[in-house]
Amino acid sequence: MNRMRELVDLLNEYAYRYYVLDDPEVSDKEYDALYDELVRLERATGNVLPDSPTKRVGGEPVKLFGQHKHINRLYSLDKCNSFDELRAWNEKIRKAAGGKVFYTLEYKLDGLTLCLTYENGLFLSAATRGNGETGEDVTEQVRTIKSIPFRIPYMGKLEAQGEGIMRLSALKEYNERAAEPLKNARNGVAGAIRNLDPKVTASRNLDIIFYNVNFAPDAGLASQTECIAFLKKNRFKTDRLDRTDSIEEIIARIESVDRNALDFLIDGMVIKVDDFSLRAQLGYTDKFPRWAIAYKFEAEETTTVLRDVVWQVGRTGKLTPLGLLEPVELCGATISKATLNNYSDIQRKKVRKGSRVFIRRSNDVIPEILGAVTGTGGDEILRPERCPACGTPVEEIGAHLFCPNENGCMPQICGRIEHFASKDCMDIEGISEKTVRQLHDKLGITSADSLYSLRAEDLAELEGFKDRKTENFLKAVEKSRGADLPHFINALGIPNIGKKTARDLAERFRNIDALMAADAQTLAAIPSVGEVIAGSVVNYFREHRDFVERLKAIGISPVYESAFDNGGTFSGLKVVLTGSLAAYTRSQAAAEIEKRGGTVQSSVTKETDMVIAGEAAGSKLDKASKLGIKIIGENEFIDLLNT
Ligand code: NAD
Repeated sequence: MNRMRELVDLLNEYAYRYYVLDDPEVSDKEYDALYDELVRLERATGNVLPDSPTKRVGGEPVKLFGQHKHINRLYSLDKCNSFDELRAWNEKIRKAAGGKVFYTLEYKLDGLTLCLTYENGLFLSAATRGNGETGEDVTEQVRTIKSIPFRIPYMGKLEAQGEGIMRLSALKEYNERAAEPLKNARNGVAGAIRNLDPKVTASRNLDIIFYNVNFAPDAGLASQTECIAFLKKNRFKTDRLDRTDSIEEIIARIESVDRNALDFLIDGMVIKVDDFSLRAQLGYTDKFPRWAIAYKFEAEETTTVLRDVVWQVGRTGKLTPLGLLEPVELCGATISKATLNNYSDIQRKKVRKGSRVFIRRSNDVIPEILGAVTGTGGDEILRPERCPACGTPVEEIGAHLFCPNENGCMPQICGRIEHFASKDCMDIEGISEKTVRQLHDKLGITSADSLYSLRAEDLAELEGFKDRKTENFLKAVEKSRGADLPHFINALGIPNIGKKTARDLAERFRNIDALMAADAQTLAAIPSVGEVIAGSVVNYFREHRDFVERLKAIGISPVYESAFDNGGTFSGLKVVLTGSLAAYTRSQAAAEIEKRGGTVQSSVTKETDMVIAGEAAGSKLDKASKLGIKIIGENEFIDLLNT
């Protein structure tokens, strides 16, 4: 009982910070773990404290806003974390139905519930969910959301429910210019809607995706499928909806969802009984409908303590802060490091040494520190005055700090050699960070061109270089002489030039001498280049021409030959990949397209010639069909590769 009291108090305090103040103290992952513990104790003891969060929905509406009473109560969702739990839920439903049941499958959008009222075809008001019965009147705030219809064809009284979201692209854009970045898209939308100044709401560029008709007695809706069709017909934005009577198909679809490919946060998928008469039979608990369940994905966010910040020096001399964390479990891995972008990022996010911070991990990349929990203490993180590697005073250029000691700072020298040898550059197999460090420390190698004059007897001095390894290493170095021009340009390490721009430059200039001779104006005229990159290229060749000349002198000067010249299948075509392919990863598919003369774009534009759509393709597919762009599936793609 003591633990139950403790949990209820703690969860109520966390819920207050989350629902009322929009300033959470812990992540959802941590909240959910305590909540689940409370549910287990309540089940085991048969006792439920009167103020237990398991009995109520959301938070109490804040008095500062007007109150809105929902016509029908809004509920939360029951949840499960495994497919076995989902199968068990399916069995229960089928038993109650006495046979086959059709389900719908939707995204579980991670934002803020909003309920919009319409009468005589006109938008009347909007409210938050609040405690399910009464919400806050946020009509003026919601009015700023451009995608909601003010007039609809349906003339009866209507309450349409959806999720207010902040798109990740809008969040990124907002955070780039904001004095205080938002910790995540969910807080972004909650803080914007529950803000008394509608101008703040408008500045966040929000959107609403609708998934429910809460009240529309004259519409004669009999299923979720009809409900979504009705919303669509009435100009509301809706999202994907699958329908099937097979739980295994639902599971397969859930497994194929690539949430990192979406422009909004989802924290799971929602499975609902489609037929409303069966829903009526199943009914509700205090908190949620028995006819729906959320399958929750593994959390991508949590909080932990930032122990320290160390500054790393990259190949360009840029100093990047790396956060050292109290180790914490996230997405099946133990996380002990996270990135911060630069010094002003540390200041804007208000993170301090010893403070509790929110971290987020998506895909397998190194996690990011999103911000500090409000009110946690800690010591100020100081701006480094000198390079941590070589002690040279740092220079501030734009938002970043740089060590100017290009030729005497070890991490810069080794970083340049590692970059030169890496897979997307000269692709010298078997050169690790450790090998480069040995080449530098023991053999005094300070420039990548020296790799080509290494002999077996030089390498004999290095640790771990036995006959076989030496032979393989020298072979790999020799083989790299055959690298093509795009890889060669990328290998030079020109600031702001990556794989894609290197390819564009190679395509345009076709040999390194022509590129070196190009002036800023000619370069800036290339669509993917622009003034900044053009300046960077001109500058690079002004200062590092000797390096290129040394490489040329030892016979490394590739000439561009493209599949375009040979009439490759994707010659000159701009292609976008979306969804997941069964036979290729995204980067493999992109390489196959590029090999055949195509260019792979990250988003669909008017210029796009073709979209290759795999399983669970999302918004890119919608955009392509709107623009009338050619769309092909995986089988057709494979056929094209084989022609
Ligand atoms: P919930 O968010 O888990 O699920 C219910 C909500 O899902 C609905 O109200 C609706 O807004 C939303 N939803 C999204 N897509 C939907 C769809 N297609 N169909 C129907 N509904 C859809 O439950 P909840 O009761 O809103 O809140 C619990 C959540 O809030 C948990 O994730 C919990 O971790 C979090 N929380 C966090 C803290 C914290 O301090 N971090 C505190 C309190 C609650």
